[in-house]
Amino acid sequence: MNINFFTNQLLRWYPSNRRELPWRNTEDPYIIWLSEIILQQTRVAQGLPYFRNFLEKFPTVHALAEAPEQDVLRCWQGLGYYSRARNLHACAKFIVAHYDGRFPTTYKGLLSLKGVGPYTAAAIASFAFKEQVAVVDGNVFRVLSRFFGIEDDIGSSTGKKVFDKLANQLIPASSPDTYNQAIMEFGALQCVPKHPDCGICPLQSGCFASAKGLVGGLPVKAGKTKTRKRYFRYYYIRCGTDVVVNHRQGNDIWKGLVDFPLEEYNQDPVGQQEESSLLRELQAFTPVVTFPEAKPYKHILSHQVLMASFVKIDISTSLRNRLKTWAEAWGYLLVDGGELESLGKPILIVKYLIDQK
Ligand code: SF4
Repeated sequence: MNINFFTNQLLRWYPSNRRELPWRNTEDPYIIWLSEIILQQTRVAQGLPYFRNFLEKFPTVHALAEAPEQDVLRCWQGLGYYSRARNLHACAKFIVAHYDGRFPTTYKGLLSLKGVGPYTAAAIASFAFKEQVAVVDGNVFRVLSRFFGIEDDIGSSTGKKVFDKLANQLIPASSPDTYNQAIMEFGALQCVPKHPDCGICPLQSGCFASAKGLVGGLPVKAGKTKTRKRYFRYYYIRCGTDVVVNHRQGNDIWKGLVDFPLEEYNQDPVGQQEESSLLRELQAFTPVVTFPEAKPYKHILSHQVLMASFVKIDISTSLRNRLKTWAEAWGYLLVDGGELESLGKPILIVKYLIDQK
């Protein structure tokens, strides 16, 4: 295997091709951890402003641990995968409570933290503490599978083990941090998913996929996850400047954020208002003004496609107290517009509210 060639070329390529990013050139585990969690499933350009905002609002792990959950979720708003934000917050609290605000200094110790999987633990352990442990993410799968011609399925546990083993054979003891940065950057900039420019690649002379014409077929990922379609009908209930909101609990999407009272259907509910028990109850608030449902909003999550329609309902301010009692009986809250702005909301709701202006 061309191990030395591979490693040396990567380390040579990196210094003159790397992007200047604010979480590079630091050995602070808090900053590294924050950047890694924000960048999971997120492009750098999208994650960068969130990272800056988080660091400004919560400059230390203590500041993050002490913040109310709603503040953390509000800062995360729009980034998706909200369990990451909740885990981030829980993890900060844990580190402050159990380790006096100091991160564990080994891969194994880091793995014990909530929301920190093998990839993040390896990133922190190598960047902050120079431990010789390889990061294995989508970029690394791609570069290794193409260069070494590995056809194991990257979605299978056997395949993951193969890549993990190889990655840990490649990482040099002298510069594990630079090597890990280099391979990820190489996958992000040079050996990109579609149509990499192999003609200018410093690894081409040893690359299996380039020699065999298999660049488009590697890495192998079998059995894509099924996508589930869900139909939501939201009720945007206003009473003067107040709005009825739903604080999401349980194990569904968007736990901890607020949205509006909601009914879920197995098929498109538009035009089926008579089936709504919520709407029937709201009709009791005469005079009630309802607006027809507009075209549904389509919102795509990793394994779900949401089709969300909205029914807008205006209730007279003379019925405010009654509405408040009704909302609380259903487990909802009546909040004013300013408070709604400060609460963490799914981006779907934010878009809808912008469209109402
Ligand atoms: S030659 Fe092409 S496929 Fe091989 S490592 Fe370089 S960019 Fe990737």
